[in-house]
Amino acid sequence: MSRDLSGKVAIVTGSGRGIGLGIAKKLCEKGATIVISDVNEENAKAGVAAMEEMGGKAIYILADVSKYEQAENLVNTAIDKLGGLHILVNNAGINKDRMMHKMSVDDWNAVISVNLTGVFNCMRSAINYMREQEYGRIVNISSASYLNGNIGQANYAAAKAGVVALTRTCAKENGKKNITCNAIVPGFIDTEMTRGVPEKAWDIMVSKISMGRAGTPEDIGNMIAFLASDEAAYITQGIFEVGGGMVL
Ligand code: NAP
Repeated sequence: MSRDLSGKVAIVTGSGRGIGLGIAKKLCEKGATIVISDVNEENAKAGVAAMEEMGGKAIYILADVSKYEQAENLVNTAIDKLGGLHILVNNAGINKDRMMHKMSVDDWNAVISVNLTGVFNCMRSAINYMREQEYGRIVNISSASYLNGNIGQANYAAAKAGVVALTRTCAKENGKKNITCNAIVPGFIDTEMTRGVPEKAWDIMVSKISMGRAGTPEDIGNMIAFLASDEAAYITQGIFEVGGGMVL
């Protein structure tokens, strides 16, 4: 048993920046070949360059995960170009926060399409290949709002709760095919998604974290590199908080 990921191919969605990039770096550090996937080509190219600087191997494939055909193309192109697919990390996500009584139907649909349907699209595209090879490691990114909801995040919280249900269903359906499926609940992580928060709100969030600091994308990546490894072969259907002890 080892945590080495040499010979494994990993797709990380939304990995041009933020948590996705941190996950890609950690999987690369352990030896996996990385597919940087994003909607932003400039960031995707920079992501590949970052992996190469680390001495790793990476390609990029553009995909808007909310579109089934693009998710399918992502998976098929990765398999064609790299000869396999072992690890799928569904990280791509957006937020369009507004109190529910002011939330537009478009903002509801946009967040559900990327954060929930996007996860289904990628898993659906990869699952038959993984079932046939009887090997797969799938990790989906949820959020603490999945359990308690969050003011201003009806769309986001509902999508992230859906991600947990999807994760557990996928784990139940595919365990006998040696496919594990787990979800991560990041705490308050320092990325562009959270940097828009006013300084006062930032300090309040950090005051609720036992470790006394916001998390880094690499903190999330470390956990995912473990879940993707052989040592985590018997870990599935799990929902893991990586939040430095954040109390909400
Ligand atoms: P981020 O900094 O906003 O990065 C999100 C990435 O996803 C960007 O590269 C973005 O591309 C890409 N993306 C957006 N829509 C996409 C689509 N339709 N298809 C493919 N890629 C798309 O966010 P983050 O903070 O790294 O968050 C990553 C994940 O963690 C999300 O699922 C988020 O909900 C979750 N999360 C974050 C936190 C946190 O504290 N940051 C906490 C809990 C959960 P562009 O550059 O073009 O926008």
